[in-house]
Amino acid sequence: MRISEFFYSLQGEGLYAGVPSVFIRLAGCPLRCRWCDTAYARDFQAGTEQTAESLLSRAGLYPTRHLVVTGGEPLVQPDLAAFLDVFAKAGYLITLETAGLKFIADLPIHLLSVSPKLSNSVEPGNDTAESERLNTAVLSALLAAYRCQLKFVVDRPQDLDDIADCLERLGSVDPERVCLMPQAVRREEYIEKSLWLAEYCLQTGFAFSPRLQVMLYDGQRGK
Ligand code: SF4
Repeated sequence: MRISEFFYSLQGEGLYAGVPSVFIRLAGCPLRCRWCDTAYARDFQAGTEQTAESLLSRAGLYPTRHLVVTGGEPLVQPDLAAFLDVFAKAGYLITLETAGLKFIADLPIHLLSVSPKLSNSVEPGNDTAESERLNTAVLSALLAAYRCQLKFVVDRPQDLDDIADCLERLGSVDPERVCLMPQAVRREEYIEKSLWLAEYCLQTGFAFSPRLQVMLYDGQRGK
């Protein structure tokens, strides 16, 4: 598998925010989100070729059973199931982070963390990304098959209409499983957006997700 990064940190977002976790970042993503904070991992040839077994040995050095497999976009990797199986059989609780671009059945994961891409992610004029970023049929299939959280990156108040539209198309989703988090790379921007987003969460019942990697480490890579 092509690996962009391996590191140990706190899970920064969602249901397991704050839980010490090993992170494996797979290389390769077909999207080009405007505010992508891991652009170095989008190339399918980024990073180095590494086996699941060698990564398992490294993961064992840290005091956690939580593994986060992220990207890039993990669901487009052809050997993903076999890769994850090595860690699941060793007892890891795997969170798989995805934009929800593709359905794969029977992955051995504990939580599927789906971050559907809103129109705020598309560079003006990038028609390919606009048509590929949100596939409601695939998202519905993932929600039905896995224990999921839906994480939305919110950049501006008008994104909230986009989220409402997406959730309406998906049908009934437990609001507590919907996490909203501010789009920010730096701490100052994060705090400013968090204040109005937190108010919206209080009004709607959606969960507010922190982004500890921004709050604690101010956008440093590998944290
Ligand atoms: S889906 Fe994720 S990795 Fe891919 S371009 Fe968007 S933010 Fe970056």
